[in-house]
Amino acid sequence: MTAQSEGIVIVPEGAIADLIDADASFEAVESVFAAMSRGDAYNFPVIREAIGHEDALYGFKGGFDKSGMALGLKAGGYWPNNLEKRGLINHQSTVFLFDPDTGKVKAMVGGNLLTALRTAASSSVSIKHLAREDSKVLGMIGAGHQATFQLRTALKHRNFEKVIGWNYHPDMLPNIEKIATEAGLPFEAVDLPGMVEADVIISITSAFSASLMADHVSPGTHIAAMGTDTKGKQEVDAALVAKATVFTDEIAQSISIGEAQHAIADGSITESDIAEIGAVINGTHKGRTSADEITLFDGTGVGLQDLAVAAKVVDLAVEKGVAQRVDF
Ligand code: NAD
Repeated sequence: MTAQSEGIVIVPEGAIADLIDADASFEAVESVFAAMSRGDAYNFPVIREAIGHEDALYGFKGGFDKSGMALGLKAGGYWPNNLEKRGLINHQSTVFLFDPDTGKVKAMVGGNLLTALRTAASSSVSIKHLAREDSKVLGMIGAGHQATFQLRTALKHRNFEKVIGWNYHPDMLPNIEKIATEAGLPFEAVDLPGMVEADVIISITSAFSASLMADHVSPGTHIAAMGTDTKGKQEVDAALVAKATVFTDEIAQSISIGEAQHAIADGSITESDIAEIGAVINGTHKGRTSADEITLFDGTGVGLQDLAVAAKVVDLAVEKGVAQRVDF
């Protein structure tokens, strides 16, 4: 990005959809995961606080990618009452980018759609690198805002023939059925034991106790556990995490705020049992080694993903001549 001498670039939330798509987000996220594993990019410790107002969780995720020269943070979080009370989505966030040479702020970018795109990109990177090539049935646990993005992007990465879904609130299942139908695939609502039919399972809920148990999953399945991004949250039983080969975006987050926190706490796995997905992308970890292995990607969501997609958006806005600049 070359805009620092010309003021801050502002890309409002409403402009993002016309600038970046699922494919560009996938490339940005895959590349920053690889940079993390090479040691070229690192995340700062996450701040995430229950603010005692509107049941909101608010915080900051930041980092520095030396290879992409992206420095900054995403500020925001999760307001569970937004949709019902105000017709707003529950996630609200903004990304700020800074010039790594001077510390001057460079850009302010709407982070809501970007969060959904970079999170969907993350599970899809795991599917590309860890799911069996012959995967046919995609299982969805969750049917909220993120789930629709997760499903739409995942369908690009294997030749899925069917989507099955379970949600704690069954009335929300039409949200994901619609995406499957748009893609020309049959959709079936199942109970949790019905997930044994799935070759790939994406879990993206705000649950604080496990839904997916070891006997709900067949050998050879790839699980992308995407909802657990805070201490105390849980979607997958610790016994299933212990049974799987575990990969993550960042090990420090996986063991503290990710799905692996519970298996770590009960001692059934240790930190050394978890590998970075970036190592698989870079070819320094072999990834899946057999058709029977259960692989689990603990997608905790790192600040560098947000910076990667936001930097891409700013570049695209400048390139297309639609960047709004403000003196600062
Ligand atoms: P949403 O409010 O739109 O949907 C919430 C989903 O969770 C729904 O499917 C709902 O039925 C389900 N749910 C609610 N209570 C449940 C319970 N007790 N047990 C099981 N399921 C339950 O939220 P969203 O925007 O789709 O986000 C879903 C989750 O994903 C949140 O927890 C959010 O923090 C997390 N998230 C993670 C990342 C990441 O990078 N890992 C990024 C964005 C969001």
